[in-house]
Amino acid sequence: MTYKPSPTLQAVLDGQLCCGCGGCAALAPNAVTMHISEDGYLRPVQSQPVPARFEERFSLICPGVRVTQDPAGRFDHPLWGPLISMNQGHATNPDMRRNGSSGGALSALLVHLLETGAVDGVVQVGADPLLPIGNKTVLSLNAAAVFANAGSRYAPSAPLEGIDTYLDSTLRYAFVGKPCDVSTLRAMEAFDDRVAARFPYMLSFFCAGVPSLAGAREVLGQLGAPEDDVTSFRYRGDGWPGFATATLQDGTQRQMSYADSWGGILSRHVQFRCKICPDGTGGFADVVCADAWEADARGYPVFIEREGISLIVSRTVKGLKLVQSAVAAGSLEISGFETEKLAAIQPGQTGKRRLVLARLAALKLTGRALPRYRGFYLWRNARSAGLVANMRNLLGTLRRIWLKKL
Ligand SMILES: Cc1cc2nc3c(=O)[nH]c(=O)nc-3n(C[C@H](O)[C@H](O)[C@H](O)COP(=O)(O)OP(=O)(O)OC[C@H]3O[C@@H](n4cnc5c(N)ncnc54)[C@H](O)[C@@H]3O)c2cc1C
Ligand code: SF4
Ligand code: SF4
Repeated sequence: MTYKPSPTLQAVLDGQLCCGCGGCAALAPNAVTMHISEDGYLRPVQSQPVPARFEERFSLICPGVRVTQDPAGRFDHPLWGPLISMNQGHATNPDMRRNGSSGGALSALLVHLLETGAVDGVVQVGADPLLPIGNKTVLSLNAAAVFANAGSRYAPSAPLEGIDTYLDSTLRYAFVGKPCDVSTLRAMEAFDDRVAARFPYMLSFFCAGVPSLAGAREVLGQLGAPEDDVTSFRYRGDGWPGFATATLQDGTQRQMSYADSWGGILSRHVQFRCKICPDGTGGFADVVCADAWEADARGYPVFIEREGISLIVSRTVKGLKLVQSAVAAGSLEISGFETEKLAAIQPGQTGKRRLVLARLAALKLTGRALPRYRGFYLWRNARSAGLVANMRNLLGTLRRIWLKKL
């Protein structure tokens, strides 16, 4: 190496604080590119000196350095972030509803944006044709393409790598990404006027974390599906929650339930940054969708197969108008959802938001780098988790550090 690596980028990588959004690659496309690491995550690799303004801009946008949420006058829920309205609903097109991860609401909104001419294209993530368990960022220009790329994919994605191409164009796009992808893109608005002009709509979904590709390989192993023989792989969808489904070269399929694939395998392979994520509910997006799980008698989510229902959170006035316009056009059906019911059906998101502070404290106590979070009610949420849960998470993170699992 004949150049000095970026110290800020290196600190984020050394601290395992990278979520793999690709924002750094967008800032320095000739110097930084995203690659699958040995442990199966997407990580930036620097190959040349970065431009002069890189360090300053990187520190403003990288979620491994800081995330600052500003409610800007909106109602700001301590657990769920800034929001204007919360509904549940589904695409009215039954094929789209079935094909989506939940109720296909996110895809219905995207198709509505395309068909009303509000945007010229959708930048989103779909399956990588060269690596069926992996992801690729694609530009969808019509309803068929949005349909083909629907469904959650529990594998690394870096939709901001290559975003500079769209910023240089004269068209308008909707962007769909993980909450951290959207927070990075939103932060770029501070120094790049093209972001708001080229991406008038940013959509996201609740995100419990990104598993390594090793997770999908473990699923394939348990299904008895050799990776070389797999021609396509769905993580879920085609039903709600739908099955993890590997299609083999002879056309046969192997399936595993969502509870076994996500609950039993994939969730164990989630990258460290996700365990200290304060924004798994997409506070920076215009609209966020999630699973509006039904609850059992104890209030816990149930995962039995049924017709899909998405939770639809409008976070900005623009997002609310988009949802209303899709309903008026007959693309989306919605009904009200009580905010206070959400904690019970999203126990993972609730727990993480309350316990982030304890996990950050473990990093601080051991002198490790940690991101700076503002606007997430960390102390208030930690207090509501109680002393025992906080201590357990503090000690658990310390244990991982001492065992060198971090
Ligand atoms: C890693 C991950 C973790 C999740 N965790 C939760 C959770 O904790 N709680 C919860 O309720 N829901 C979670 N979801 C979201 C949920 O599975 C549904 O996507 C969401 O409910 C919306 O469903 P839908 O039918 O409206 O969306 P769809 O119409 O199916 O659209 C899904 C959209 O997500 C995009 N997408 C899929 N995978 C990725 C990816 N890896 N990176 C970037 N974009 C992608 C697609 O391009 C598509 O535009 C998660 C999704 C992912 C990918
Ligand atoms: S979190 Fe995003 S911007 Fe930060 S180092 Fe990782 S890929 Fe780059
Ligand atoms: S949990 Fe947070 S950091 Fe991890 S991928 Fe999801 S939004 Fe990004």
